[in-house]
Amino acid sequence: MVVDIRVPRELSPTEAELVSRIDWFIRLRWVAIGGLLLTLGFVGLVFPGVLPLAPLLVIAASIAAYNLAFFIYARHLRQPQRDLAHRPNYYRFVNLQIVLDLVTLTVLLHLSGGIDNPFAFYYVFYVIIVSILLPQRAAFAYAGLVTLLFGGMVILGYMGLCGADLSAITGMTRQHSLPYVASTFLAFASTVFLTTWMASGISLRLHERTIVHQATARSLEDRTQELSAVNAQLRQADRARADFVLVVTHELRAPLAAVQSLLGVILEGYAPDPAKQLDLLTRANARVSELLQLITNLLELSRMSQEGSVEQSELLDMGEVLQNIVDVMRIMAERKELMLSVDIEPHLPTVRASEGRLKEVWTNLISNAIKYTPSGGIVVVSVYQNPNYVVGSVRDTGIGIGPEEQARLFTPFFRTEEAKTLTKEGTGLGLAIVKRIVEHYGGRLWVESHPNQGSKFSFALPKVPPTAKSETGARS
Ligand code: ADP
Repeated sequence: MVVDIRVPRELSPTEAELVSRIDWFIRLRWVAIGGLLLTLGFVGLVFPGVLPLAPLLVIAASIAAYNLAFFIYARHLRQPQRDLAHRPNYYRFVNLQIVLDLVTLTVLLHLSGGIDNPFAFYYVFYVIIVSILLPQRAAFAYAGLVTLLFGGMVILGYMGLCGADLSAITGMTRQHSLPYVASTFLAFASTVFLTTWMASGISLRLHERTIVHQATARSLEDRTQELSAVNAQLRQADRARADFVLVVTHELRAPLAAVQSLLGVILEGYAPDPAKQLDLLTRANARVSELLQLITNLLELSRMSQEGSVEQSELLDMGEVLQNIVDVMRIMAERKELMLSVDIEPHLPTVRASEGRLKEVWTNLISNAIKYTPSGGIVVVSVYQNPNYVVGSVRDTGIGIGPEEQARLFTPFFRTEEAKTLTKEGTGLGLAIVKRIVEHYGGRLWVESHPNQGSKFSFALPKVPPTAKSETGARS
């Protein structure tokens, strides 16, 4: 009969080992009962009358009875334990088995010859098992118990109260001298304690090593998880790069193909009229300018992505930088019949950035507002401060952006359908560049917008007191 005890997950490794050994104990006991019956049969046949068979058979039957009880209880332990607070005390179960076994072994040995019975050394097996399975202190306690039991048996034997006379088998007299009995006891006790000391020492060291191995395995597992996360990130970055290259190629190809087909019309003689030729060349030239703009923006974007490639940063007044470009922007707005108003809070603290880059941010945001606001609309540009940042914002009453599209707005080449319908002019790279510039200087960029109502793009750069020295090409 084999009892399979499933090891509950919440157990410590030592406890788990103990639980897994419970069925092993039970199996071993069935084997021991078999061995005992065989031995009794053999001795009964070969040396009839030497052993008191009836009491020994009663003992074999009681071992079988309590082992059956253990087997049933162990099956009960197999049920999943829902209540952790009332989970079985595995140590108590194992201890009960060991104590019962030791007492039974002693009675068995006493009835079958006491110290004359060579099976007395079976105690040592128990001592080894206990030293491996239980804490060192418990192992020594058992060594003491075994010595006591053995000692008791020796004393009874010495007093002539032994259950069997083995002289017919051993050839030795039944009555032993005190020195013989005492030295046998001493040899036994020292064997038991030395075995306990060695076996529990080895077991302790193995246990410590197991703990170290488990810790190493756990940290290896953590590292593997970290590595696979980094690997996933790298793969994602690689995919994003490949997608980007695909989009770039596509964007570059479109104007080039247009130029080629416009020139083809002239080269193949389909437009002999000089006025028509001029028109085709003008259109080709416009597509080339578009291509150049795209390439310039792309270069800009990749420069912004390279660490340390941004020119010298300095302490700047964001309002002043805005004033420097506002005249050009005003002309653009007037051309489109838009009202452009500028509101700069006085006495703003400085921010750290490159003037060229900051102009680029303002120009991109304001020209977008002008581009995506139909005539008659309003564009309001303002600069103000909050506790930690100087904030620039560009608000318009233009076509606006839907909530789903807002999330993709800063992705290179992304243009909303409404923007594409309104104007063909645009690369979809401007906002990606602005975002990288702002983040490069430790700031952030965000948008609030409603379709057909307008948009507000804002960016915030950290305030830097004028005492801070300027740095070269680095983040502030
Ligand atoms: P471009 O303007 O060259 O297309 P941007 O990167 O500057 O590229 O802008 C990306 C897209 O964001 C635009 O195509 C447009 O769809 C949307 N967008 C930017 N600014 C505004 C704005 N002020 N109002 C409405 N949509 C805008």
